[in-house]
Amino acid sequence: MCLICDRIEMIKNGTNPYFVRELKTGYVVIGDNQHFYGYTLFLYKDHRYTELFQMDMEERITFMKEMSIVAEAASRAFEPEKMNYELLGMGDAHLHWHLYPRRTGDIGNYGNNGKGPVWWYPMEKMYSDECRPSTEDLISMKNKLGEELDRLIGGKA
Ligand SMILES: [Zn+2]
Repeated sequence: MCLICDRIEMIKNGTNPYFVRELKTGYVVIGDNQHFYGYTLFLYKDHRYTELFQMDMEERITFMKEMSIVAEAASRAFEPEKMNYELLGMGDAHLHWHLYPRRTGDIGNYGNNGKGPVWWYPMEKMYSDECRPSTEDLISMKNKLGEELDRLIGGKA
């Protein structure tokens, strides 16, 4: 089992507090750490593939389309200046999109004079317990994102 598979198991048995919506190709969850307010992930439904190009074209297009809808919903819900999209897989190869709402100054003076990707912000700060959402904040974020997703997809995948 990988971490993403574990989290999906928790969604299936109703014990994942970060879960927002199930779409056709994956699950929408709020990120555990919220240094980048509104950080959202879109987890592919199973561990069958480790690369986008392993999917047949129809599945690939559906997965990409749904990811872009989740990003749009996150943008409407959390009102950043810009969305960032990342599909990496060096921690867990299970396909999962990191969707980061970005704002000027959100990496402090790190990076290129405060500009650049989220990974130029120190990992120990980004993943610190101080950046964990309170239960109240998490519920509010899930509601906001869920409402925008429902508006964009009409309440169904
Ligand atoms: Zn997995």
